[in-house]
Amino acid sequence: MRLPTANSAALTRRDFIKAATCAAVAASTGCWSRAARAAAPNVVLIFADDLGYGDLGCYGSNTIRTPHLDRMAAAGIRFTDYRSPCSVCSPSRAALLTGRYPSRCGVPFAVGGVYSDLGLEESEVTIAELAKGRGYRTACIGKWHLGIPPGFDFDTHAGFTAHSQFHPARHGFDLFHGMVVNTHPDGSTPLLEDDSIVDPDAHVTTITEHFTQRAVEFIHADPQRPFFIYLSHTRAHAPWMPNPRFAGQSLAGVYGDMVEEIDWSTGMVLGALEDAGLAADTLVIFTSDNGSAPASTYGSNGPFRGGKGSTFEGGLRVPCIMRWPARIAAGAVSGAMVNAMDLLPTIANLAGATLPSDRLIDGTDLRPVLFGDRLEGMHDRVFYYYNGLNLQAVREGQWKLHLPRTPEMLVWWESGLRDLEEPLLYDLSKDPGETQDVAAAHPDIVTRLMAEAAHARAELGSWDQPGTGQHTITHLMDDRRSLRHLRSQQDHQAMGRDIAK
Ligand code: MG
Repeated sequence: MRLPTANSAALTRRDFIKAATCAAVAASTGCWSRAARAAAPNVVLIFADDLGYGDLGCYGSNTIRTPHLDRMAAAGIRFTDYRSPCSVCSPSRAALLTGRYPSRCGVPFAVGGVYSDLGLEESEVTIAELAKGRGYRTACIGKWHLGIPPGFDFDTHAGFTAHSQFHPARHGFDLFHGMVVNTHPDGSTPLLEDDSIVDPDAHVTTITEHFTQRAVEFIHADPQRPFFIYLSHTRAHAPWMPNPRFAGQSLAGVYGDMVEEIDWSTGMVLGALEDAGLAADTLVIFTSDNGSAPASTYGSNGPFRGGKGSTFEGGLRVPCIMRWPARIAAGAVSGAMVNAMDLLPTIANLAGATLPSDRLIDGTDLRPVLFGDRLEGMHDRVFYYYNGLNLQAVREGQWKLHLPRTPEMLVWWESGLRDLEEPLLYDLSKDPGETQDVAAAHPDIVTRLMAEAAHARAELGSWDQPGTGQHTITHLMDDRRSLRHLRSQQDHQAMGRDIAK
């Protein structure tokens, strides 16, 4: 489907240049006119947790009602070939915020257990930092899960101060309000605001309402200045416990009730933007960090094979919807091959920020897609499917090659192919469910993608070799014991709640 060629709300080129100039002035003066805002929009990035491709009405669910997200999709653009750079939490979040593959930005593993000293280091540049540099107010509301300081207390969350290592304040966020890691298995969690524990006894059943309220407050706090809100939900991640207000409302069990609560939350945020008169000038993005977990029972990854923890499409292909009435035409559906790392260069360019020149950004500016110039395509891109430090698959256009592997290479969360002697080639254009291996019929493509895999390993590393473009995580590369340790299910269980995908 193509975008309509005329968008009555879109700016002319002259208006756009004028507005961009206004934005530059406004960023230095703190005074934002309507024209400046239209060039540099507010951005609300709503990030669901473990929500699968098929869990929204607009992506085909018949058991979960998501009217707010469906309307948001109808008013903007919905992507069908968007993926997260990893199939578990921390690496996905690190890549999302930095525009770089997890190995490149230094968070290839889920933070916790033997990886409790892993986190997003201050040297990394995030979307929030770039937006803040352009005069944006910035907030991280919800789940962080990108590092904990030494001595962090998992029970009380004591020790996570704004001056401590890995804190959102060190990554460009004016406000942090939320959870440092996942909730305890019983659903309880302390809740922090910046330096302080504001609720030691918060609970997952009502936490979405709480996060939503805080996001709405932030929108209304200073509507004259642009803002970037990273609203990072902890739903529909385990534990699967419903908010009593939503219990039994869906046809997809507790899981569906949780997704419907996320939809409600999105409606509240969109309503707050309307109330503040900011809806037209705000880019709202909705997506998820990885596919639905195999154990969630009611979660759906749509037509795709596998789920959270695997490098089948069901692990990484997730919904992505963007709405910006002033600039994005309504009702578009894009099959462009895009991913979460594209958000940083896109938002940075919209905000008028300069991308850092001292590092490689893996994402691509999506403005041509958003504005309808190139709605389809981008299939000349290559995408690398890592699970931890193990490169498991390579995608180029319609082709996806699953690479040989042995159990010793795998991370503990692996839920896909554990042992593969020969590569498997799938044609995603005809076989999105990855069921028919066509490697024998296309040896030239197998050879080409194997060469791509070798290139990726040389640059981004592998389970047994560092890469030239890989973030230095010496303690991981030097200590093979930790990998062997994590491969044991027994050890996984022994790590208990501290390990949280
Ligand atoms: Mg997740």
